[in-house]
This record gives sequence, C-alpha cells and structure tokens, in this order.
Amino acid sequence: GTVLRILNVPFATYTENEVIARCTDYAMDQNPHVVITAGPEFVMHTRRDQALLPLLEGADLITPDGIGIVLAARLHGHSDLERVTGVTLAEKLLAQSAERGFRVFLLGASPESNAKALNAVRASYPELAVAGRNGYFDAADVPMILDEIRAFHPQILLVGLGQPRQERFIWEYRDALSVPLMIGVGGTIDILAG
Ligand code: UDP
Repeated sequence: GTVLRILNVPFATYTENEVIARCTDYAMDQNPHVVITAGPEFVMHTRRDQALLPLLEGADLITPDGIGIVLAARLHGHSDLERVTGVTLAEKLLAQSAERGFRVFLLGASPESNAKALNAVRASYPELAVAGRNGYFDAADVPMILDEIRAFHPQILLVGLGQPRQERFIWEYRDALSVPLMIGVGGTIDILAG
C-alpha cells in the first residue's frame, strides 16, 4: 500500500481485504486510530475547508468511497486500490467483531434509527457487545457523550453524523475517547436499521 494524493487527500492504495485487515489490527492496538472513507463530496470539501487538512494528514487510513476516485487511481497506475464504502466497512467489521470479541459503539442517526440498528445488529450477532447513541446533540452534551462511550470501553467506534462533521468530531475527541479504531460511516446506521 502506497499513498496516492487526489487533490488534498492522501488515499491508501489497498484492496478491500487489506483495509479490513488494517482495521482489525488497529482495533487490537492500544493507541487510537482514525479511518476516513472519502467520497467525491468529501474530497471537494477539503478544497474549501483548510481546517480539514491536519485531519487528513493525521488519519491512519483514508479509503476511497467513490468509483471516480478508483478510476482516477487506475489512470495513475494504482490498480490495487479498491472502493470501500462506509457500509461495507461497517458490515465487515461487525462480523469481525463478533468473531474476535471487539466491542462496538454506534454514534449517530436519529434515536429511532439508532435503536433499530442496535436491534438489527444484535439479532445478527447475539454474542456481539454493541451499544449506541443518537447523533442529535448540542455541544453542551459532548462531555456526557464522551463519558458514555468511554464507559462502554469499545474497541471500535462508528460515527455517523454526516461528512465532514463526523470526521471533525473524531479528530477533536480522538485522545479524549482513546478508542483503538474510530471511523466516520455517514448514513450507515440508517442502513443497518433497515
Ligand atoms: N446525522 C446525525 N446528526 C446530525 C445530522 C445528521 O446523526 O446532526 C445523521 C443522519 O441521521 C444520518 C447521517 O448522519 O444518519 C448522515 O447520513 P448521510 O448519508 O447524509 O451522510 P454522508 O454519507 O453523506 O456523510
């Protein structure tokens, strides 16, 4: 895996399986790791919002969530880079978590959707330790939310607040949260809810 820059975004040139393997390695590590799935809107957003640059450089892994990015990469001779959507990543990591005993916290979506997603995940993986909280909160609620997440001791935190808010949230609180693997997953929690 080398790095391919498209505009400001340093993409890792991994296959989907390599991305999953990286993520499970991160989940087993002590230190916090940040993974971003970047689609075309996100790439364009990074041109307008300079405040996102340190976050891009600090992320452990940025994967392309858009076929245009994959095609651009092929033109540059990177045939190993594959599209990895937030949903695919979440689904594969939930399966890995059930197998390996990782605890998973889902932050985001409406209260109804979050509750449905938790029920669906528990139905698929009865042995998986999963908890969650909806993504509609004020800045004043953040300390309480950080406490709630920390108290659960997750290895994996999936944050679905929409891009780039979820990436900013993860970046701002990565040390406070100190979760081994944190990923922004967009509308994935709604999809898990069915
Ligand atoms: N969302 C949230 N809090 C907010 C705004 C949005 O939890 O204040 C959730 C929303 O309910 C949805 C997700 O964030 O589940 C955004 O999904 P979308 O597909 O729009 O995000 P994208 O994939 O474009 O980042």
